[in-house]
Amino acid sequence: MKILEIDAVSVAYGGIPAVTGISLSVEAGSIVTVIGPNGAGKSTLLNAIMGVLPAGGVIRFQGQPIGGTNIEARVQAGMSLVPERRELFATMSVEDNLRLGGFRFRADGHAAAARELERIFSLFPRLKERRRQEAGTLSGGERQMLAMGRALMARPRLLMLDEPSLGLAPLIVRDIFHTITELRGTGVAILLVEQNARAALQVADRGYVLETGRVTLEGDSATLAADHRIVEMYLGQV
Ligand code: ATP
Repeated sequence: MKILEIDAVSVAYGGIPAVTGISLSVEAGSIVTVIGPNGAGKSTLLNAIMGVLPAGGVIRFQGQPIGGTNIEARVQAGMSLVPERRELFATMSVEDNLRLGGFRFRADGHAAAARELERIFSLFPRLKERRRQEAGTLSGGERQMLAMGRALMARPRLLMLDEPSLGLAPLIVRDIFHTITELRGTGVAILLVEQNARAALQVADRGYVLETGRVTLEGDSATLAADHRIVEMYLGQV
């Protein structure tokens, strides 16, 4: 079953196209990566899917067209986005940042939110150790974990991650990617935008290459990782 299907999606900034006619799909419970250089339109694409930016084309989530719905409706439907800048509340504690992500649970009360908090803490034990600490005092890797944890508090069926490896040391990147594969095991589908093509293709089932707003290559990750164009452009340097 395809959880996300987008067809001919386009976005322009003041008439200048940033994303042109992109079609892609994400199977439920799978990891799909979108790789490509700086400025290719990767963040724009995620923002269009999340409803942060208006877009042309068709976006279907769990079979339903969702174009024209707002961000909150998309969160309610089961989408969550971790933006590149991570956007945490620096002077609030780790736990309060997480609780903010669980606003969807207001209707079913505190017990559901508390259960979700424990689930996040088991995925990210580091966040549990630091639950009372202000988010602004965390390391880069911990902030990325917190941003992911906050997005997961809404119990998404599709988690979109915008360059989770950005600015992090290789060991931390390994941890984050390990958690991404663990998450797939819990049934959440992941749309992973990355400049780190090597790490992304290692964890993803399928991938798309985005260049100047268009998909130039797509396929299963193993095929892409072996494609000479990908090797030359993105995997050349170790
Ligand atoms: P990065 O890795 O740097 O985030 P990206 O692949 O995510 O790159 P986008 O940030 O989506 O690329 O940018 C795609 C294009 O749209 C770029 O040419 C960029 O300059 C342009 N762009 C992005 N945001 C805006 C904006 N708010 N206003 C005008 N142009 C924008």
